[in-house]
Amino acid sequence: MDARDPITTARGVGPVLGRRLAAAGCRRIADLLAHLPLRYEDRRTLDRLPGADDATEPVKPGPLTVVARLENLNRVFGRRRFSRVEAVACDGAARVAVVWFNRPYLAQQLEEGVPYLLHGPLRRRGGDGPWQLSNPSVERIGGEESDGGGVRPVYGRIGEVPPSRVARLVADAIRTLRGASGPDWIEEWLPREERAKHELPRLADALTEVHSPSREAAIEELNARRSPAHARLAYGEFLLQQLQLAVARRQRRRSGKPHRYRADGAAWAAATRLVPFRLTGAQERVVGEIAVDLARKEPMLRLVQGDVGSGKTVLAALSCLIAARSGLQSALMAPTELLAEQHFGSLERLLGSSMTIALVTSSQRVASDGGPVEEGIADGRVALVIGTHALIEERTRFARLGLAVIDEQHRFGVVQRQSLLRKGLRPDLLVMTATPIPRSLALTVYGDLDVSILDEMPPGRRPIETRVTTDGRTEEAVNEVRRRLESGGRAYVVFPLIDGGEGAAAGLPSLTESGPEWARALAVPHGVVHGRLRRQERDETMSRFAGGSIQVLLATTVIEVGVDVPEATAMVILGAERFGLAQLHQLRGRIGRGTDPRLGDPLCIAIAGETSAEAERRLRVFADSTDGFRIAEEDMRQRGPGEILGTRQAGLPQFRFGDLARDWSWLVAARRDASELLDRLADPENDALRRQLGRRIPGLLP
Ligand code: ADP
Ligand code: MG
Repeated sequence: MDARDPITTARGVGPVLGRRLAAAGCRRIADLLAHLPLRYEDRRTLDRLPGADDATEPVKPGPLTVVARLENLNRVFGRRRFSRVEAVACDGAARVAVVWFNRPYLAQQLEEGVPYLLHGPLRRRGGDGPWQLSNPSVERIGGEESDGGGVRPVYGRIGEVPPSRVARLVADAIRTLRGASGPDWIEEWLPREERAKHELPRLADALTEVHSPSREAAIEELNARRSPAHARLAYGEFLLQQLQLAVARRQRRRSGKPHRYRADGAAWAAATRLVPFRLTGAQERVVGEIAVDLARKEPMLRLVQGDVGSGKTVLAALSCLIAARSGLQSALMAPTELLAEQHFGSLERLLGSSMTIALVTSSQRVASDGGPVEEGIADGRVALVIGTHALIEERTRFARLGLAVIDEQHRFGVVQRQSLLRKGLRPDLLVMTATPIPRSLALTVYGDLDVSILDEMPPGRRPIETRVTTDGRTEEAVNEVRRRLESGGRAYVVFPLIDGGEGAAAGLPSLTESGPEWARALAVPHGVVHGRLRRQERDETMSRFAGGSIQVLLATTVIEVGVDVPEATAMVILGAERFGLAQLHQLRGRIGRGTDPRLGDPLCIAIAGETSAEAERRLRVFADSTDGFRIAEEDMRQRGPGEILGTRQAGLPQFRFGDLARDWSWLVAARRDASELLDRLADPENDALRRQLGRRIPGLLP
């Protein structure tokens, strides 16, 4: 028997159970072993049942583990779907009632008079009645099913297969495999060098320890999934992912793109002269990186990270211009209709005289030369198509797409990215994001992308002053905002909630409750935007704000992404303690984008209610820094990488054993090891590892 064998060959798995397991993705015995225990119970020391005299408190806190025989086994039907099984447990010295809820099958399975290992909480019936063991786990002892105490794994269900069954299947499988093949009962694929370097156990030993921990096991470590065995599984998984990325990267480097750019330094310089301002040093540098990528034979895969307002759009514009001059089409995809329109407007101004540009959204299809849109894209007349995800619909067909640009890439998933790329033949890809994630993190989770960083703001921008108040006073905010409105500015007031509901108890301000007061106090035309409005209505209000017919926007965080309103100079963030650091920074990036000195200095006021120490620290960092990267690093320190990535990045790799937050250092190690391993991959001793990489989803076994 081998761990690769179908699950149906495992002991105790008939055709019906086999089908159930397979339906839950458990096809091979190895899949069963990949199902790790949720937690572990410490049953190494047996307790005694409390006697009638132990009238006061339980013998010890936490669950009790006892060996007892059952008496008076009895199934009781309650109201409708509820049933319970009752018995009396006797450990030779004392008797205590036992009750199981909603496990009617126990009435058939359990027997009176034989010893069981019971593990569960001891409570007083009705609060002050006699002792009662409620819902203990129950296991017959003495037979081969159990050796009694020890550290017991507790499993979750696999599909419809109940936990107790899973436990038995796993234990049987490991026993059988070891019986048949000895201590090396599952193929090892992690190279000896890496194992030794990190002092990690072999796969067989790790699985044994995870599924049937030794009596000496450190239970807290197991429960936290930080045991050496768990680390082995997590690290192995990360290493496979990082190796796959590294291999893909190397292959990409080797597979050429069919198109070529006719662009030398002079062509880039000429393109740059079209731009009405001088590029910042950072923009120059990134343009250089893009130029090198485009000149390569293999497609570019580049991520540009730059704070809001750092000037990413012009990078896209220049690249698209170079593409057009080389007879290639470009596509620029933005996450919202409004943003797409804004890009269309500004790029048409910049490039409209040298090429035809089209806008493709779900409600608009226009070309800058007034001609037909679809046809123009299909026959190559349109050189640049700007749009929302409507771009990736079937009917948009490109004649020769050479360059794909994705703006605010964190709003898109990997699937959408791929769909856009499929519109051409291995086109170059440029993705831009204003959500700066720490460099280490970007390199690791976007292992397949090269990363550029725009860490310099265009000149003339006034630094945004940020004030944090925690006393909830609003007059100062109202006065400051009014001053800026009077000098022609516009303002955002951001609320953490749309309406009262659950958060109201915590005293959080909401748009529907406090919005009207703010509107009255500021006394200028205002609009309201939040996530429950229809997109069209939201976009209309935003457009009116951008156009100036309304001067104040009362909003939730839906305003976070990309819109450029240079006159916006004031922002009030209510319930600021509720927002994450990166989110606060994103919000603040909506203001201070203009350079007109008459508008005055931009100001952001964060008003916090009740704050925890952590929230206070967060708000201090927010007030002290306007550097997105510093803020991102701090955010990562405070919340951990898993949290940062989990909430914001769609389409991240999913890990089965590893956890980005908990096992972060293992991921970093795996990334380093992967690039080093790449050259040793062909060695015969890495056969098993190579076969793992060949699988679409690498797992426990090649
Ligand atoms: P983001 O990185 O947030 O997408 P944008 O590309 O929208 O930033 O640029 C923000 C504003 O700064 C735009 O109005 C743009 O024209 C202007 N801008 C960009 N680069 C420069 C520069 N080098 N000098 C002056 N203004 C610039
Ligand atoms: Mg932008």
